[in-house]
Amino acid sequence: MSGPPLDATHDPARRSFVPRANLPGADFPLQNLPLGVFRASSQDRPRIGVAIGERVLDLGGAVESGLLELPGRLATACHGATLNGLMAEPAERRHDLRMALSEALLEGSRFSQDRTLQDKLLRAQSEVQLLLPAMIGDYTDFYASVFHASNVGSMFRPDNPLLPNYKWVPIGYHGRASSVVVSGTPVRRPAGQSRAPDAAAPSFGPSRMLDYELEVGAWVAGENPLGTPVPLAEAEQRIFGVSLLNDWSARDLQSWEYQPLGPFLAKNFVTSVSPWVVTLEALAPFRAPAFTRPAGDPAPLDYLAAPANEAFGGFGITLEVSLQTARMREQGVPPARLSRSDFRQMYWTLAQLLTHHASNGCNLRPGDLLGSGTVSGPTREERGCLLELSWRGKEPLALPGGETRTFLEDGDEVVLAGYCERDGAVRIGLGECRGLVRAG
Ligand code: MN
Repeated sequence: MSGPPLDATHDPARRSFVPRANLPGADFPLQNLPLGVFRASSQDRPRIGVAIGERVLDLGGAVESGLLELPGRLATACHGATLNGLMAEPAERRHDLRMALSEALLEGSRFSQDRTLQDKLLRAQSEVQLLLPAMIGDYTDFYASVFHASNVGSMFRPDNPLLPNYKWVPIGYHGRASSVVVSGTPVRRPAGQSRAPDAAAPSFGPSRMLDYELEVGAWVAGENPLGTPVPLAEAEQRIFGVSLLNDWSARDLQSWEYQPLGPFLAKNFVTSVSPWVVTLEALAPFRAPAFTRPAGDPAPLDYLAAPANEAFGGFGITLEVSLQTARMREQGVPPARLSRSDFRQMYWTLAQLLTHHASNGCNLRPGDLLGSGTVSGPTREERGCLLELSWRGKEPLALPGGETRTFLEDGDEVVLAGYCERDGAVRIGLGECRGLVRAG
């Protein structure tokens, strides 16, 4: 059995005429071609862009100037103010776009000779404002790391850490789309109701246990009509691509409100996503087997099982979290890495999450966002949130310069990063997802 097809766009020998796309360690080489939305100034209208090296290609402009020749509806979608139009296109048309982009940005292409057109269509990413990639209709957050679920479960329920449904059914909750923001948007400390362990009654005030959650966000492509499930074999065509996602969480609010209906105000005050959507096609060289279930775990039910999913349903994405406090920033101390984990460790694959979501006939639409759940692994260095790293505040983390943290303080900036690496393929990156905590 072979994995998702590789083609000329993945050829490691291909180089771009944009010099910095070819630097070792670059997030956005010619093999990546992630899509996003930008504007040149606050007066400019939002435009779709493609990241190449440190630059961004104006996609609508590239179509208009004849640089990209695309069929009608696909060309129209390139002029959108969000990626929703492209996300509505079938997988074959999205493939056409990737092929055309790869040819246009290739060393020696017609575009590489045309300085005037380059000046018009290529801008520095540092000089544009990156916006939310899509109009998000619905946002759902899952809980797909068995390591995260077991760690959190053992803090809240020491005698019963992993609930009996976990290995059978992908757990999720409906999040809130209106408060999903792009990387760089400040994060206001939320206020809410909580009850201290020794207090007789709850009180209302700023959260004192503010946390981040390192996650991967999957953007939905296409649409299944209400009442029509999505078979597992078709689930990956329904995923446009991925971004980094930070599911900011107020743990004190959460532990008081979460029973019996799950997360509510502890999670929906803000959710950050990185601006670039790395397509599933770009990730093809980095596919991996689904997580190997330990002996004794149940096999997934039939609707969540397929040989292809088991063989290639995973993604080898290395994920990192760094933190820079206000004092570190003032003293010029770079962000300190708190954890590093691998998306291969997730108990459920993205395809299983999508198929499960639609298994009752729930309609998923272009631009819907699915959060993976906190990406944690089996070791301490792989814990994807402070709740786990500080073990609910019992084990403070030491930072460079002598500060310690159990939860986030005002002025802290959290930086998520992600990249894919393997022999025989060009490294690609997801970029960064940043958020600086402000007083509420
Ligand atoms: Mn989450």
